[in-house]
Amino acid sequence: MAVNILIIEDESAIARFLELELTHEGYAVDKAADGREGLAMALARPYGLVLLDVMLPGLNGLEVLRRFRAESDVPVILLTARDAVMDKVSGLDMGANDYITKPFSIEELLARIRAVLRAGTAAEKRTAVLRCGKLSLDPARHAAAYGDVPLQLTYKEFSLLQTLLENRDIVQTRDMLLEKVWGYDYAGETNVVDVYIRYLRQKIDAPFGVKLIHTVRGMGYVIKGDGP
Ligand code: CA
Repeated sequence: MAVNILIIEDESAIARFLELELTHEGYAVDKAADGREGLAMALARPYGLVLLDVMLPGLNGLEVLRRFRAESDVPVILLTARDAVMDKVSGLDMGANDYITKPFSIEELLARIRAVLRAGTAAEKRTAVLRCGKLSLDPARHAAAYGDVPLQLTYKEFSLLQTLLENRDIVQTRDMLLEKVWGYDYAGETNVVDVYIRYLRQKIDAPFGVKLIHTVRGMGYVIKGDGP
């Protein structure tokens, strides 16, 4: 499976150049040209890495990073202007994994991408692929599939499915799932768990004609299947 990279960059010549080079290296690439669109895309799909320009229309790169980090730990490399020292410092403080200063050589960027992905892989090496029947989820690659069919999951759907699979055959209460997937400080609707369980069933149980995600009345949810 190719690693998916999202490029958030408003300068179309640079974005196009990066797309060509990264595709040539075997990465799968998506592009966004402004901060809001980029943030929405980054949250809508579990990417392997995000390249994030700092000077962006709509929402600047640091604000995109701040909001993205509230939801996701997907690696981010910032593209910063030559003299923007503060951007680099704030960017790293805010959870960027690395930065590269424009103008940069593609070789240097590719090396940094490999290093960031390697660090992520090393950290997640102990995390084996999770399975339930034909359903598989690979935390290191942020990829899920049913048999050979890749599942298109949003970031929260992916986290919820991962949590259920990590606790396969063990009932998870709504509170446990809220805490693990949405965090201690979640202050939204408490039925958000039910809503996302429904999304997962629409993407897994319904299309493949199986029943993996079970409701345990008065308790919560559990994922279990007949297979290995
Ligand atoms: Ca820019």
